[in-house]
Amino acid sequence: MEKGQISVQSENIFPIIKKFLYSDQEIFLRELISNAVDASSKLKTLAARGEFKGELGDLIIDIKIDKDANTLTISDMGIGMTEAEVKKYLNQVAFSSAESFLKKYQDDANIIGHFGLGFYSAFMVADRVDVLTRSYKKSAKAVKWSCDGSPSFSLEATKKANRGTDIVLHINDESKEFLDEARISTLLNKYCKFLPVQIRFGTKTESTWEGEGEEKKEIKTEVDNFINNTNPAWKKRPASLKDEDYKSFYNELYPMSQAPLFWIHLNIDFPFKLTGILYFPKLNNSLEVQKNKIQLYSNQVYITDDVKEIVPEFMTLLHGVIDSPDIPLNVSRSYLQSDSNVRKITSYITKKVTDKLAQLFKKDRENFEEKWSEIGTFVKYGMLSDEKFNDKAQKFALVKNLDGKYFTIDEYREKVAASQTDKHEKTVVLYTNNKQEHFSFIKAAQGYGYDVLELDNVIDNHFIQHLEYKLDKITFVRVDSDTADNLVQKDEKKESVLSEKEQEKVKTIFTDAMEQLNGAYIDLKALSPEDHPVQITRPEFMRRMTDMQRLQGVQMGDMPESHNVVINSNHPLIAEKLLKMKGEDRRKEFAKHLHNLARLNQNMLKGEELSAFIAKSIDLMK
Ligand code: ADP
Repeated sequence: MEKGQISVQSENIFPIIKKFLYSDQEIFLRELISNAVDASSKLKTLAARGEFKGELGDLIIDIKIDKDANTLTISDMGIGMTEAEVKKYLNQVAFSSAESFLKKYQDDANIIGHFGLGFYSAFMVADRVDVLTRSYKKSAKAVKWSCDGSPSFSLEATKKANRGTDIVLHINDESKEFLDEARISTLLNKYCKFLPVQIRFGTKTESTWEGEGEEKKEIKTEVDNFINNTNPAWKKRPASLKDEDYKSFYNELYPMSQAPLFWIHLNIDFPFKLTGILYFPKLNNSLEVQKNKIQLYSNQVYITDDVKEIVPEFMTLLHGVIDSPDIPLNVSRSYLQSDSNVRKITSYITKKVTDKLAQLFKKDRENFEEKWSEIGTFVKYGMLSDEKFNDKAQKFALVKNLDGKYFTIDEYREKVAASQTDKHEKTVVLYTNNKQEHFSFIKAAQGYGYDVLELDNVIDNHFIQHLEYKLDKITFVRVDSDTADNLVQKDEKKESVLSEKEQEKVKTIFTDAMEQLNGAYIDLKALSPEDHPVQITRPEFMRRMTDMQRLQGVQMGDMPESHNVVINSNHPLIAEKLLKMKGEDRRKEFAKHLHNLARLNQNMLKGEELSAFIAKSIDLMK
């Protein structure tokens, strides 16, 4: 047996390795399996080149747990190592690269993939590592290298029947979790699901049914438990895949999810290598749930599902896989964004996604419109957060009116220009985010010949603001807003049938009737006699502020929403009945009832007030 010292500057690198990445110790498994995959792939390449003439066999990688011996073993049938190679690769190269990696990142654990620690990451979880290996080379002898975590190692001849390498980890006391089948199974599914070489983790029971009726019986068979799909869809040629293949791959990535809307197959060789499939998921109006599901791979090895530095923020709503060996993995996240390759990759992905949307819109507008309620969330989010995307998306971003018709912003402005331009030459866009609640306002607006948009998406509030800011001379006004009838006033400014004095009187009656104003502001307007006698409207600006705050999670408490009580001085119930009514109490009661009717219309009457109102109505009918 040979004993020696690993050539390393620092005497105590192992404690550092153990401490480092404490929370991410599990990556040792990915690193060791990656090495096994490399060793297997190298042998395949040698065979293809005719440099290896022996039997390749199945290049399966086996993962085994031995609870009695406290070991976890990773075995491959790859190229293996000769004694000289063990000395060269394990004692020198690997260790020194691990050392320089750790030196570089001791203070910065925020490394994208924690890649580069390689073989020595084994010492995060093992207090001894044995490597039994036999090279593919003819007449190579098997050797066993062993190291207990200090810089000294032993190397001796050993017996090993097969070509390849076994890495035996003697799991340390603090890392016993890695002797647990369920834990290893989870890790294998996380990191190895799409590795290009088969990974086997013991066996599993499969059951099939045989016979008919009474005779029917379950047959259980033990079969190899293979972890991975070695040829995932994103590695295949797009031309060889059908819609069904893309959908079933989506299902493989996210079991139990709703089918995606559409997808983009990424495939580029130059100036960088990148493959992948990005899916547009069903967002269901819930952004947070769908975020951060893109998985980043490097040559089919899972790295992370945190790709914020690689795709623009809004694209983290997409799902799928990006696989690129050209994304540097042993660098810190902050460095990543300034890396020129990564910047190219980001703009490539952005362009692909934008082009796909533009193309869908152009080639199949009907289909695009059908999916708009889903795509829209994504597009709006993108327009809000990404300047470049905004400029392109303005051509295909859609709005829908209450007739269910879709328009681009430009198309819509043209449609309403004639009837909905105010005195400042601004296009006034009327919208509702709640058809039910705004029913009477919508009816009124439509009665005047105006068009009303439906903008009920979670981010429409922001989106409206964004459009007003970006576009010239356009303003959005909710149908129940206090400014909604400004349009009317410009067109056919109605004269009040009441004198100033009478108007004052009406106002006083209402002020007295509404015991507490509760943030309300009374306003008299000369509307059409067909409009409601009393309406509740909301100041557009204040309402938007509260909406925004609510969206940001600010607790609004029980504060009454500020609103206006608009009294239609031209309505017969006001102009005639109320003014002619005898007795102050009767007038007050009548006004209060009209006010409550308007509140009922806005869903503002609750509990005690509501039952008092109903009792009063019954009374009045007697
Ligand atoms: P890296 O893989 O980044 O080169 P590692 O520390 O993981 O660094 O491994 C160092 C070297 O040891 C590898 O480059 C390879 O030559 C050799 N090696 C490690 N694991 C195996 C294995 N399972 N089979 C054959 N060679 C291996």
